[in-house]
Amino acid sequence: MAFEGLTQKLQETFRKLRGKGKLTEKDVKEAMREVKLALLEADVNYKVVKDFVNSVTERAIGQEVMESLTPGQHVIKIVHEELVNLMGAKESKINISPKPPTVIMLVGLQGAGKTTMAAKLALHFKRNNKHPLLVAADVYRPAAIKQLQILGGQIDIPVFALGDKISPIDIAKASIEYAKKNARDIVIIDTAGRLHVDEDLMLELESIKKEVEPNEILLVVDAMTGQDAVNVAESFNQRLDITGVILTKLDGDTRGGAALSVKAITGKPIKFVGIGEKLSDLEIFYPDRMASRILGMGDILTLIEKAQQAIDEKKALEMQQKLEKQEFTLEDFLEQMQQMKKLGSLKDLIRMIPGIDVSKLNDIDFEENEREMVKIEAIIKSMTKEERRNPSIINSSRKKRIAKGSGTSIQDVNKLLNNFEQARKMIKQFSDIQKHMKKGKFKF
Ligand code: GDP
Repeated sequence: MAFEGLTQKLQETFRKLRGKGKLTEKDVKEAMREVKLALLEADVNYKVVKDFVNSVTERAIGQEVMESLTPGQHVIKIVHEELVNLMGAKESKINISPKPPTVIMLVGLQGAGKTTMAAKLALHFKRNNKHPLLVAADVYRPAAIKQLQILGGQIDIPVFALGDKISPIDIAKASIEYAKKNARDIVIIDTAGRLHVDEDLMLELESIKKEVEPNEILLVVDAMTGQDAVNVAESFNQRLDITGVILTKLDGDTRGGAALSVKAITGKPIKFVGIGEKLSDLEIFYPDRMASRILGMGDILTLIEKAQQAIDEKKALEMQQKLEKQEFTLEDFLEQMQQMKKLGSLKDLIRMIPGIDVSKLNDIDFEENEREMVKIEAIIKSMTKEERRNPSIINSSRKKRIAKGSGTSIQDVNKLLNNFEQARKMIKQFSDIQKHMKKGKFKF
């Protein structure tokens, strides 16, 4: 996830501040020097950093903080508030047209993730009971039309395409008519990109804008490009007067500067972020939650939302009942693991828990953990249904077969079976204690 380096540095600075009973002006200035360096290293635009540090310093050396009983905490609060302001104060909603269809035009350079984002947005709206239409108006990039059709197929959303011989302007125009006739209430137009900002492209985008009068022109930028993302945003904004920005690839180890600079420089809010290659890897951009994540304060709201999306409540209840009744099998365990995987990488999830010291996360080998999970999955998948339900029948010849089938060793199979047995015992003890507590046998 982005911002790792920044979060770590900010946490170090704040730890020093928290340790102090009283703060002097010198302490604040020293801390702000560190914040400034951390932001510059994270690739935040220089002017943005300067303004940011100035406003925080001005507030932090005010009387209110100096006389506070917890001055360190107070400074952190100010940094949090100013970060939120920097990124846009509150989330920016999509401007839905009172008269359908709402037209969203996606623009951006080639490779930024436009086509993928078009499909992600379509899925997002579909989940919110809308009826999107995807429009393939990138007639220059070979395979762009096909790519959109494949993505649309995966999420069962129609794709409007007229091949690559018709002008994108005519395609866009025709798509709106099609949407009206076919009761599609959101039209998402995937336009062409180029490797660099160029005049022909801008003229074409301006013509599409004039023709279809979109409710939203969202610029898709690759967060990995750092400072360049801000320059691209400025150029597109000057020509098209965009309505918002979508940052993609925030899952990579980008330093994150673009997220912090783009609003300040263009005045246009970030509306969504892309956090992976899967079509469900989309988040609404909430400046306050992002500020908390950057400061290492976690983001419990996003964590809960992710869990709600990924976890089927009925199933969760069934699992709980199975656990209580001691009926939890390796098959259930496999299902749980698959549900967990839908939530995203373990490291990204842990970062959302408030109070986590991100520098400590570096000591944990998450990849080893994830490799271990893959192994466990392979082992369980190599078992028969009967074996998963009743592991006690797994004798040594079965173990040999399972190890061979999963490309693991007999020791690996033994380890999994032992761990599973121990977990079952622990769960039993827990549920016994719970039962006793309910009966009032334990008092604390
Ligand atoms: P376009 O040229 O702007 O239409 O870009 P594409 O949609 O074809 O995306 C370019 C590449 O970036 C593809 O390999 C996508 O899978 C990948 N990509 C798009 N969004 C994300 C994201 O949020 N995270 C990651 N890791 N990859 C992404």
